[in-house]
Amino acid sequence: MPYLPTADHDELRAVVRELADERVAPRAAEIDEKGEFPWDLKELLAQQDLLGTCFEERHGGTSLDTIAQCILVEELARADATTSLLPIVQKLGALPILLAGSDEQKDRYLPRLASGEWLIAFALTEAAAGSDVAANRMRATADGDHYLLNGSKRFITHGSVANVLTVFALTDQKAGGRKGMSAFIVETDTPGFAAPRVEHKMGIRGSPTAELTFDDVRIPAANLIGDEGDGFKIAMETLDRSRLSIAAQAVGIAQGALDASVSYAAERQQFGQRVSEFQGIQWMLADMASHTEAARQLTYAAAARVDALAPDLPYWTSSAKLVAGDTAMKVTTDAVQVLGGYGYITEYPVERMMRDAKITQLYEGTQQIQRLIVARQLLERAGVAKGG
Ligand SMILES: Cc1cc2nc3c(=O)[nH]c(=O)nc-3n(C[C@H](O)[C@H](O)[C@H](O)COP(=O)(O)OP(=O)(O)OC[C@H]3O[C@@H](n4cnc5c(N)ncnc54)[C@H](O)[C@@H]3O)c2cc1C
Repeated sequence: MPYLPTADHDELRAVVRELADERVAPRAAEIDEKGEFPWDLKELLAQQDLLGTCFEERHGGTSLDTIAQCILVEELARADATTSLLPIVQKLGALPILLAGSDEQKDRYLPRLASGEWLIAFALTEAAAGSDVAANRMRATADGDHYLLNGSKRFITHGSVANVLTVFALTDQKAGGRKGMSAFIVETDTPGFAAPRVEHKMGIRGSPTAELTFDDVRIPAANLIGDEGDGFKIAMETLDRSRLSIAAQAVGIAQGALDASVSYAAERQQFGQRVSEFQGIQWMLADMASHTEAARQLTYAAAARVDALAPDLPYWTSSAKLVAGDTAMKVTTDAVQVLGGYGYITEYPVERMMRDAKITQLYEGTQQIQRLIVARQLLERAGVAKGG
């Protein structure tokens, strides 16, 4: 299972880095300050064919392997975490269709997502059902050859800007979330759908995190993904793969903070010398670099398992997200320390990176949930898990 980047991967990194340095990084502070969705950068990525990397060529995508997709996210996140969410969420929202959708569903939706003509969002979380996904309450009631969707979702990335959603709702309330939940495709111009509220956030401030409401939203039965009752499984299989994108995002944020720290330490003079000459600073930089590299290599190792459809894929992707998220938080916090007081002000990017890093420990399963997944697989291997 080879996971070391190839010459093609290096070339992709160089191309995306140049684009991110020239076009994304100069926009990052403004996106953060204004909290505005970066429509211009969405267009840029669409023009560069960078929103379709996870789709097959027959659906208009470029069908890059998972390491390449991680490199794309990493290099965008190194410049701006909000912008890196464009390919991340395009994949997250589409994964239920990729994993369990019909040919008709794939033909209708994937080409528009690959080209960037349409944005998609993944609507699983509800106000009272975060980590406990099975506690979902949203309902889907069969109505002839349609379903009626009623309920609400919370914290949905791109929920207010998406053209289409993958939504999870109970088709069998008695059976509950694990057995009675189903996955649906909902076009957001369907009457009864609204995105009444967008959250004010600590970080990734240009990425709208929306509350969604569904009031008798009538969708064709053909928009059911897989079979009734498949929703929980589809959601888990989606997250097992997509949280690797968050690991890549975390690696990118950490790398951005490290690079800013090295540049600053090499310039800033105190006590008649560059602060990079103090051993105390050198050791911090060394720790930041080596932990970032360790997180990156674990992310690529997990990516290789995703492409190989390895049975222990959740162990790898959760480990990668756990390690990379904690690394991003530590490295960005240390970056603020390396820059001293200047690290704390918005003139320099590291305070933004520190705020952005925090979300990688929270979404697509908190760090506590990643530990549950890793521990469960570990104990299953040892034959002592309770299962479930
Ligand atoms: C900015 C942002 C974007 C998001 N985007 C999306 C999106 O696009 N789509 C979507 O569906 N959701 C999205 N989410 C939701 C996100 O995935 C959830 O917030 C996350 O899963 C945690 O759920 P919660 O916030 O309800 O926390 P809770 O589940 O209430 O957790 C509270 C605390 O308890 C801990 N905890 C919970 N259960 C356990 C346990 N069994 N063992 C140990 N500790 C536990 C948690 O780790 C946490 O520390 C987003 C959230 C945010 C903030």
